[in-house]
Amino acid sequence: MCHWPAVVVATPAHSGMGDTLSYRSERALAPGTLVRVPLGAREVLGIVWRNDAAPPEDLAEGQARDVAQVLDALPPLDEAWRELVGFAARYYQRALGEVALAALPPPLRDLDPTQLARRLKRPARAEPAAVAPDSARALTPEQAAALEALAAADTAPALLFGATGSGKTEVYLQATERTLAADPAAQALILVPEINLTPQLEERFRARFGHDTVVCLHSGMTPAQRLAAWIAAHTGRARIVLGTRLAVFASLPGLRLVVVDEEHDPSYKSQDGARYSARDLAIYRGKLQGARVLLGSATPSLESWHASEQGRYRRLAMAARIGGGALPRLRLVDMNHQPKGALLAPPLLAAMGERIARGEQCLVLINRRGYAPVLACHACGWKSGCPHCSAYRVFHKLDRTLRCHHCGFTQRVPRACPDCGNLDIEPVGRGTEQVEEQLAGLLADVHRPDGGPVRVARMDADTTKTKGSLEAQLAALHAGEVDVLVGTQMIAKGHDFRRITLVAAVQPDAALFAADHRAPERLFALLMQAGGRAGRDAAHSGAAELWVQTWVPEHPLFTHLRAHDFAGFAATELAEREAAGMPPFGHQALLRADARTQEAAQGFLNAAAAAAKDLPHREAVTLFPAVPLTIQRVANVERAQLLVESPSRAALRRFLAAWQAVLLQCRALPEARGLIRFAVDVDPLSL
Ligand code: ADP
Ligand code: ZN
Ligand code: ZN
Repeated sequence: MCHWPAVVVATPAHSGMGDTLSYRSERALAPGTLVRVPLGAREVLGIVWRNDAAPPEDLAEGQARDVAQVLDALPPLDEAWRELVGFAARYYQRALGEVALAALPPPLRDLDPTQLARRLKRPARAEPAAVAPDSARALTPEQAAALEALAAADTAPALLFGATGSGKTEVYLQATERTLAADPAAQALILVPEINLTPQLEERFRARFGHDTVVCLHSGMTPAQRLAAWIAAHTGRARIVLGTRLAVFASLPGLRLVVVDEEHDPSYKSQDGARYSARDLAIYRGKLQGARVLLGSATPSLESWHASEQGRYRRLAMAARIGGGALPRLRLVDMNHQPKGALLAPPLLAAMGERIARGEQCLVLINRRGYAPVLACHACGWKSGCPHCSAYRVFHKLDRTLRCHHCGFTQRVPRACPDCGNLDIEPVGRGTEQVEEQLAGLLADVHRPDGGPVRVARMDADTTKTKGSLEAQLAALHAGEVDVLVGTQMIAKGHDFRRITLVAAVQPDAALFAADHRAPERLFALLMQAGGRAGRDAAHSGAAELWVQTWVPEHPLFTHLRAHDFAGFAATELAEREAAGMPPFGHQALLRADARTQEAAQGFLNAAAAAAKDLPHREAVTLFPAVPLTIQRVANVERAQLLVESPSRAALRRFLAAWQAVLLQCRALPEARGLIRFAVDVDPLSL
């Protein structure tokens, strides 16, 4: 008796949606079984998707190929996992094989059955001694109410709308504890935006549940670590998976709880391959597997907020800070009335000085790394453009380089203007290095309580490149070895700092005028999150302040910020979105094209739009003309995009599915000559 499993493989060519290939097998293979199958001249990993009993009609007898090996030491991937992957492929318009195989840890692609069996038998490494066990805390009334509401019968996703410092983590921990206690096979998935930024969280989960109960899954792990963690989750040995967006695809047969921490964070959206949103997939997955979904944030995404307004998500609010501390008071500095060119306004400097003299700490947020975003010659107008991108190279003073933050192109800073020889080339604008450098001087008259000078440190992508450096810098701050920490948005995220009483945003205005309709939402979240680092210890919270230097103090965003009024801010933004038919009221997708020339990129896009004219649901979508991206050229590749909008999500999806075949044909058109690649981005985060 011969069987004909339909196997999903990642084919090198973009082979359309839902594709499986049929192979012959002597024994029946359950769906979800991992196999190795021949594909062209290679042998590749595949997943049995269906086990059709009849041989496929279109396959001539001689062409049938056999399943080469069955990786049956591993239990098959369950139906829910396959459905999740199938949905992601359909929704985000990618090939099933691509999504399915990318969802598995990379080393699985190369292991044969014997090697895999050996991996499975390998004993878990001994538990390291670093971590002291921790037990559940007595909950505040708000925390208790949130947990009770979560345990209630209703299965709608819950939005934990908890102020910064309201103790969301304890709710996650205790929700997890209850979930695991209710069923010995239950598992929980905890998603975080960037695990490296929150080493504290991993520690707290391990301290609460034991080292081996928890595995991490994120792209910073070695392939072997990822495989081990994945197997532990798949086989149920690990009961908690703590990971970044890719962990939403972990195989978790016992999944009963999904937590999405800082659910508004844009890093949940993948920016290449299948451009999925892990938050949205978490919601879908929860429904599939009957798992509770808990989204947490002090500044929810407008999509989630809107769903909670409509009652589709259940909102659990925690407005109070632990210990009864106050949220920081907003101090706006009107830069129109400050000395010209002031990096930090005098009243802000004075306030920082007072804090430091009292032994308190300050955070200074500036969302640009490097010394200055541009180096310029005032004699001839030369600027430090990148030869490969339509962007300036950033001046990094510490290693005297000009670096392109888009393509990485780096050169030594020239001694004179490359165009006219002028020796006076000057930095324009500011970055973290410059603020760090100048602060020491600006605070030279200030002394700490022990009489010592002010200690300024910097934390950004440059200072945290090497392994362990971020942890070391955070530890120094927690230990009180730093008085002022200057950094990019990474200092604003999630950290539970105890002695910070002042947070300053130095130049946040750009976001107020950005073309991107999500820019104000992001700025509001960033400022709320950054401010949330101040006054977390109730003893000092009365004095906690968030300073914002701005040229437009009258901007309505600040009115809501001053009142810590996220709801008011969201209502304003949502009204604008509704009027414009923008998400969450309308639905969007982008067709993006990369090409040798801008003409080819746009030529392909516009041809694709024209060729769509008879497609199903065409009348339900609006196709806008192709436009170049804001940074139109990166690494010598020209980039353009075309916006697709529809009031109906279903119509948009069906239209996009029908469009795929047309897009493949349009590649070959003369106007697309020079096209390198194209991709569809469904629910794009930035336009
Ligand atoms: P959030 O994530 O909401 O900003 P955290 O979860 O970091 O807040 O909690 C803020 C602080 O309060 C942490 O130091 C945490 O250990 C502490 N905390 C949380 N819940 C309790 C509780 N029930 N009793 C005492 N301390 C708590
Ligand atoms: Zn010059
Ligand atoms: Zn470049």
